[in-house]
Formats: sequence, C-alpha cells, structure tokens
Amino acid sequence: MYMGGVTLIVGVLVELSNKNIDKIFDYIVPKEFASKIKVGIRVTVPFGRMTLEGFVLDIKDSNDSDIELKSIISIVDEDIVLNSELLELGKVIRDKTLSTLISCYQTMLPKALKAKNGSQINIKYDTFYRLGNIPENIKLNDKQKSIISCFDKEELIPRNTLTSISVSSVNTLVKKDILIEEKKEHYRVFYKDEVVEKKKLTSDQSSVVSSVINNSPDTFLIHGVTGSGKTEVYMEIIDHYLSLGKSSIVLVPEISLTPQMVSRFRSRFGDKIAALHSALSDGEKYDEWRRIVRGEVSIVIGARSAIFAPLTNIGVIIIDEEHSDSYKQSDPNPRYNAKEVAILRSKYHKCSVVFGSATPSLEVMARAKKGVFKYLSLPNRVNGKSLPSVEIIDMNQEMKTSKGHFSTQLVSSIDETLKRNEQVILLLNRRGYSNFITCKNCGYTFKCPNCDITLTYHKSSNTLRCHYCGYGEKVYDKCPSCGEESLNRLGVGTQKVEEELNNIFPSARVLRMDYDTTSRKGMHEEMINSFKNHEYDILLGTQMVAKGLDFSLVTLVGVINADTSLNIPDFRSSENTFSLLSQVAGRSGRSDKSGKVIVQTFNPDHYAISFVKKHDYLSFYEKEMSIRRQLKYPPYFYLCNIRISGKDSSYVFGEAIKIKNSLERNLKNYIILGPTASTLFRINNIFRYNIVLKYKNSKELYIILEKIIEHYKSNSKIKLDVDFNPSQMI
Ligand code: ADP
Ligand code: ZN
Repeated sequence: MYMGGVTLIVGVLVELSNKNIDKIFDYIVPKEFASKIKVGIRVTVPFGRMTLEGFVLDIKDSNDSDIELKSIISIVDEDIVLNSELLELGKVIRDKTLSTLISCYQTMLPKALKAKNGSQINIKYDTFYRLGNIPENIKLNDKQKSIISCFDKEELIPRNTLTSISVSSVNTLVKKDILIEEKKEHYRVFYKDEVVEKKKLTSDQSSVVSSVINNSPDTFLIHGVTGSGKTEVYMEIIDHYLSLGKSSIVLVPEISLTPQMVSRFRSRFGDKIAALHSALSDGEKYDEWRRIVRGEVSIVIGARSAIFAPLTNIGVIIIDEEHSDSYKQSDPNPRYNAKEVAILRSKYHKCSVVFGSATPSLEVMARAKKGVFKYLSLPNRVNGKSLPSVEIIDMNQEMKTSKGHFSTQLVSSIDETLKRNEQVILLLNRRGYSNFITCKNCGYTFKCPNCDITLTYHKSSNTLRCHYCGYGEKVYDKCPSCGEESLNRLGVGTQKVEEELNNIFPSARVLRMDYDTTSRKGMHEEMINSFKNHEYDILLGTQMVAKGLDFSLVTLVGVINADTSLNIPDFRSSENTFSLLSQVAGRSGRSDKSGKVIVQTFNPDHYAISFVKKHDYLSFYEKEMSIRRQLKYPPYFYLCNIRISGKDSSYVFGEAIKIKNSLERNLKNYIILGPTASTLFRINNIFRYNIVLKYKNSKELYIILEKIIEHYKSNSKIKLDVDFNPSQMI
C-alpha cells in the first residue's frame, strides 16, 4: 500500500503460539495512527487469519512504493509499556539465557500487560460476610451449621471460603439475613500499618550506610547476623537516594515478603512504595505497576520479577536474603537470575547493588573475598545481645527411649518457655500430614501414575496427592500389590506434629502455618498478626516460619527435623541446610530477652549442622568451599543443565546421546556429564534426561548450544531446556 510520500513502517515482535520462535514482522502504520505510534507500545496486527498482539520494536520511514506489507489494526497502549532500557535489557537476557526475546519481554510485564492478554482489567470487589442474627428456633442443616461455625474465629470471611462448603447454603443463609454481605474494593492490598519510629542507627549500622553511600556506584555485600538491623540499614540507604530524587528497588524472597516487612517500609516511606508480590491479583499488580510507570512511587519492594520494575533514575538496588534460591527463575524461560539482572541494570543507571544476608551464598561470598564485591559486615545484634545458644540433639539416641518427634530436651524447653509466658517457633521441613504410605508386607509405595513420584498423604481430604502434577486419589485400605491391610504412614507432616504437640501441651495455643493453612488470601498476614499479638504460644510451620519474621516474645526456636533438607540430592543441600537453620535460629531472642535454639537431627556431626551451633558462618564457608573445589562445583566452576524431554523415552535418550556427542566434539576444557535420567524422571508422562556441563568459560558453549537449539526447533518430539547456573537440577 502506497500512501503517497513517506510511509511509516514498524517492526513488530509477535508471539507465535508456543513455537518458541521470535519473529519481527514489518507492518505499515496507517495515517490515523501515525501520531500515536511509539517504540515500546503494543499494537494488534493481522497474521495469517489471526489477529495478534505484539510489541513495536522499531519505526522507520520508507519511500519504497513496491512494498506489499499489511497494516497494523490498532494501537493497544497510549503510553509505552517497555522503555528503551528494558527493551535493551530484554535482548541481553535473551542472549544470556538462550530464550526468545518475546519471553523476556513478557516476563518483565505484569500479567495484565502481557501481549495477547490485553483484556481490560477493571476494579474488582471482594464479597465478605459477617454474621447477622440467628433466629432462635431455626432448623439448620449440617452444612449451614459448619458455615456458621467458621465465624467462631473471625468476624469477616470472604465468600470463597464459605462457598467452598456449600454455595446453596451460603445463598440460603444470606436470604435469611443470617449472613450479611459486605463488599470491599479490591483495589490494593490493605496493610495494617504499625507506626514504627525511625531508629537511631548503631555505629556499626551507620558505618555500613556511609560505606555504601560514599563508595557508590559499586556492588556490596552486607554480611549481617540475624537481628543485626539490616533492614534499618537498607531504609537509611534508600532514604539517602530519595533525598537525591532517586528511586530504589528492594528484592526480598517471596516467602519473607510478609506484611510485617512491607509495613516497616510503609511506616517509613508511606505511599512512595509499591509492593509487588504473588498475593496480589492481576488487577492489583497492574495497578501497582501503573503507579510505578507514572512515577508516583520511588521505591519498589517485591519478589524476583520486581527487578524489572520500570523505575527511571535508580539510585540503589537492594537484594535482601541474597542467598535465597528464589531469585533464580527455574521454569519457564527465560531462566534468569534477578541478581545478575540487578547488576545489568546498575550499569545502565550507574547505581549500586547491595546484597544482604546472614548466610551469604558461596558465589557472592567468594566474590566479596576476592574484592569483586565490597564486603561490609554487621557482626553483632543491635540489641547488644549475643546470638541465641544452640543445642544439637542427637535423635538416634532419643529414638531409643521415645517414639514421638519431640526429644525430652525440646519438651522441657518448650515447657519452660511457656511458663515464662514467652513464645516458641517450631520448624518442620515438610508439608502434608504424613509424607507417604507404604505396605508393611511387601513395601509397595503409592506413586503418581504420571510422574513416578511418591504420592503424599493429605489427611484433611483423606487423599494421596502428587505435588508435581496435582494428581489425586482416595486412600486405599488394602495394598494393591499384595492385599495386605496394614499400611504404614511414614514421614511426618505439620498436622501430625500439631496433634502430638496438643497431646503434650494440651493448654498451649498452637498456630500451624504451612501451605495448606495459608493458601487463602490474607491468611498469612492474619496469622502473623495474631501470633505477634500473643494470641498463640507456639508457631509451628514449614520454611515459612524461618525467614524475616521479627517477634520480640520468641525466645525458643525448635527444629523438629534438621535432616530433611540435607538428604535432597543437590550439591547445595549442605549450604541450604546451614542457611535455613541459621535463619530460623535467628528468630529467637531478638529483643531484650535471650534466646535459645534446639536442633533435632540424626546427623549431629554433619558440618552443616555443627557450625550452626557456633554461629560460625566463616568456618562453614571454608569447609564447603573446599568440597566445592574438590568436586568442581560453583563457585569454582559454572554449571549448565540441558534438559532433553519428550514422550518417547528411548527416542529422547537416543537424541540426548547425540547431543552429548556433539558437545564433546565441539567443546574442549568442559566437563560433560550424562545424559542421566533426571531426579524427576517422568512428569506428566514426559520423560526427562539431563546433560550437565561444568566449565570456566562459556563462550564456545553458547555457540554450539545455539546450533543445537536451532536444530531441534522443528522437532516436535523433543523439547530442549537450557538452564545456566541452575538453582536446582531436577
Ligand atoms: P535483620 O534483618 O538483620 O535480621 P532487622 O533489620 O529485622 O534485622 O532488625 C532486628 C530488630 O532490631 C528489628 O526489630 C529492628 O526494628 C530493630 N533495630 C534495627 N536497628 C535498630 C537500631 N539502630 N536501634 C534499635 N533497634 C533497631
Ligand atoms: Zn504427578
């Protein structure tokens, strides 16, 4: 189409459904759109018989009268959704992760703005109910009664919670005015802000703050023990940049992005903050994102993907709990690491990156030791108290005399703590009631028919469930293999420990916090608040209770089973165990009262456990580094995991061998392992093999991998996933 004179042409990046192909196609901009077209907005374009959404990547003039291009259909965004920094960043991430460019751009945007998902998000309302009058002689059925009994604990309950019991009963109760409806605008998550006064920094804290400010831009590691006041340091640094008119990003692991954390920031910075986390609905995330784009906020706090917050003029990027593996995206593509992205963005903004942790990852610590990052330390707790004393209990000995999950020392310590009217946190490294079921007679275990993974028993629904694909089945009374009727429930879950706890301490108020009890929106926050208000004596939970929580009355932390995370087949299992135990230990004795920690383990002599006793991170670091050096693991070597998967196991294996051979032919000075069946060999009937590479220099690897990926693009029987520096290899 020739429009007379100069024609505007745009290059549009579209997503071809699931083909993993990046394509940029040229389209003509019709005159009526010419004034609105910008690089970084979305447009809709005709594509074959479809209409697709895509990103405008470039705009050019053409005098060529022969071009036979189609025209764009409409303009989706008035304002750009990807600025020039992010457009370029996407290309770098594509190159580093060998993903598609479109997948990188999609990852940067909140769901509501991803191309193809252009539906308008409206303000939503949530429906809640409170209890009205229950007429005296009314007859209620069981479901109605159980709905009403929910109000024993809470005044206001979301509709979803009640309708999960029975929709029709809820409706009936509403008609009878027994339930009274209340609508709440679903605009932004509402945090109950406690007013926290600004602290006068200790001299340790002040000197860390000035080191960062005076030596910027650079990359820093703040190695600060639990309770050393790192958060206060972050806020002071942020405040400094705020006064210079600069913005900040704070990343925290999803699990510690608690309302407690957010409200500490809110109480200091008010609504200059946008908080991005998974508990927000798509609409809420979109809302927060728009506030960022409009420049209404200067501080973004969020989990991994908040690293892409479209802030301009960034002064500092802070990554708290830097050791957390949640900063690495494992699936799907792009498999990026937010810590690397932080460094990329810091180069653009000429700003600093601050990593903080009580137990830095070996990778970051090794760089700090080499001087690549600046090392700063907060070796003491702000309250001047020493770190809690840690007692290691050898459960091999305990099991000779008792059967339960509580050693005599743990029981007596809990007892003493409760008598002093103080609080206890208990960590259990599991989910569900009992891990799995086996036959006492023939040893049969129930496995997922799709995934080859042992099914987990869930007491509340009396089902066996697969935690990978969601498959579920009713619990059997008999062994399907030999007919035996006595089946063993092995392993231990929070529910079971809770029952045991209730038996030992019948009057203690126990709050259980795990994935099951916090799945309902807002529940996590409510639990934390009620524990803080001392409505409970004991908080029992999974990893969730380990991180970031700050309760002044907690003086005892008990670890029921320290070993679970040690037994995971992963080269980081010692590091993860040491860090988990140190973190949870750090919840004890955080204010004026001294704290105590009891760690129950079957491996009392393992260094990952024994160094926790002495709070000796540096010795742990040295020991673990020597093992990594021996075994050629990070940080001495880089790792790359290539996963080859498909439905036909022997075909997949055959191709995996070919890939390995081709890698061996082309790469020198690389250690190439595999192909081996992955730990999770069969997921949803897809078979998975891994090839693992260890290397010091990745240049040749990228070249050959690009060729291999290209080669398999059109092969629908094989899926290739490449993960550089994976956080886990399953
Ligand atoms: P970390 O993140 O290093 O574990 P926090 O930042 O959570 O430590 O601080 C631990 C506790 O100490 C918090 O309750 C915090 O409010 C308090 N705190 C931090 N700095 C100071 C200070 N300078 N003076 C008094 N209390 C402080
Ligand atoms: Zn499954």
